[in-house]
Amino acid sequence: MTENMTAENPATDFIREIVVHDLEAGKNDGKIVTRFPPEPNGYIHIGHSKAICLDFGIAKEFGGKCNLRFDDTNPTKEDTEYVDSIINDVKWLGWEPANIFYASDYFDKMYECAVELIKRGLAYVCELSPEEWDESYRGNLLTPGRESPFRNRSVEENLDLFTRMKNGEFPDGSKVLRAKIDMASANINMRDPVIYRIRRASHFRHGDKWCIYPMYDFAHPLEDAFEGVTHSLCTLEFEIHRPLYDWVLDSLGYPVDHRPRQIEFSRLNLTYTVMSKRKLLQLVKEHYVSGWDDPRMPTVCGMRRRGVPASALRELNKRVGITKFDGTTDVALLEHCIREELNATAPRFMAVLDPLEVEIVNYPAEGIEDLDAINNPERPEEGSRKLRFGRRILIERNDFMLEPPKGYYRLSVGKEVRLRYGYFLKCERAVTDENGNVVKLECSIDLASRGGNSPDGRKVKGTIHWVNADTAVKAEIRLYDRLFTVEQPGADGVDFLTQLDPDSFKTATGFLEPALAQIPAGQSVQFERTGYFASDPDGTPEHPVFNRTVGLKDSWGKQQQK
Ligand code: ATP
Ligand code: MG
Repeated sequence: MTENMTAENPATDFIREIVVHDLEAGKNDGKIVTRFPPEPNGYIHIGHSKAICLDFGIAKEFGGKCNLRFDDTNPTKEDTEYVDSIINDVKWLGWEPANIFYASDYFDKMYECAVELIKRGLAYVCELSPEEWDESYRGNLLTPGRESPFRNRSVEENLDLFTRMKNGEFPDGSKVLRAKIDMASANINMRDPVIYRIRRASHFRHGDKWCIYPMYDFAHPLEDAFEGVTHSLCTLEFEIHRPLYDWVLDSLGYPVDHRPRQIEFSRLNLTYTVMSKRKLLQLVKEHYVSGWDDPRMPTVCGMRRRGVPASALRELNKRVGITKFDGTTDVALLEHCIREELNATAPRFMAVLDPLEVEIVNYPAEGIEDLDAINNPERPEEGSRKLRFGRRILIERNDFMLEPPKGYYRLSVGKEVRLRYGYFLKCERAVTDENGNVVKLECSIDLASRGGNSPDGRKVKGTIHWVNADTAVKAEIRLYDRLFTVEQPGADGVDFLTQLDPDSFKTATGFLEPALAQIPAGQSVQFERTGYFASDPDGTPEHPVFNRTVGLKDSWGKQQQK
């Protein structure tokens, strides 16, 4: 991370350097086209947001276009539910796709490309079973493979068999179409890879039109080429697939300076987080979380529900940058980006999550007044609001101690604190129950300190928040924490499910200043001194629900200052 990678100053990286270079060299007629190609088999997560920010960001910065393209070539796991959520999430992240495309709409063209490969003597129908192939033909890293006995079939025979595969004449798995490349290649992906297989599965967009489906490594370069993609950006695990990507384009005659180029970058990984779709699906299906949008999930919809602003995700990606080094980012950096954003934008309110009643004994029993409170000290233009004050208020239980240690600046018997936007408050007496638990405080205020200003220059060190006990609105507060107890869930062969934190979700009853009951769902606020919270769609004005986004303490910022 370098210092100048800020919002005003977009990060430059090796991929942007390549783009600049290609533009200067006049490749692809000076056009820039990228794509974000999710498989619609799950909800997208913060890792995808890295790819999204890169693909859409480059298109935007260089005056190009970025398509959202669903890589829906595997009919067994895909669904429109995922398609809809992905479109919504990409837009919420702040990007507008130039087009929304579906790889499956190219099945006819892909089929034609496969036929063309056969005609060029570059593909053949193979009848070896997957087991036979793996055991006796594929070879391994140390030994070259052996040629399939079907490798030298005539073009006519291959065309006939492939047509009949398409027409449904053969059972699933009985035949495949293979690219004819090099059984001795050091790269196993180049040892006559399968490019079409027979699979009788209904496709969510094309029903039973097809019983053969193209494999990813064949389909992806074609999808890119059909759309005029210039830079096909993907994560590092595709690096060893790149020779095959290029082989497909070479074999079909795409000229080198007019075709997509695959470039790989490292994935985003976060501590305390699992990012594999398979694991996320398992958490949802087996009810370890309440759904894809559980606020503890690293999914975009989960983060949105938790109250994470899209801008914080964009900022995180900017700071992490684009490299080829595999690494894991401290989740504290994400939390830092969230705080930084919400500190500037979230209006502040007072809420008490663990109440202790305070009676102000020198305040008239029926007395009320309205005090002025500033909405956001970071944004004076957002003005102020009125807070109703009265004889009975609630404070946070942990803002009082019966036997305070040295250096405790909050409330204890005989000591004075400032009530935020209120008065200087002194504790006269703590009322305890038969077990010695404090159940109530009797306090007095200095009437001359209205607004929290010292009447005579005397200082109080502590300022605490409060709500009016008579007007406070009760709310359900959902306290979320990291989902896992360890930095690398699932590492070293440990079952990641055994590392779930049973305390990652707790609920509390909070007492809110009344304005909070009217906050629209999805809006973020700061509960002063407590943290950032977002109003949840489950709530109503009568029964508000707030999700904790993050606490106020920022360990990342402190680490950076050291
Ligand atoms: P699968 O496990 O199903 O392959 P995937 O996470 O790779 O899941 P895709 O739908 O294939 O999901 O991903 C779409 C794009 O997002 C790909 O280009 C992929 O490289 C990128 N992507 C996925 N996960 C990350 C990540 N953690 N960091 C950066 N990019 C990612
Ligand atoms: Mg993938």
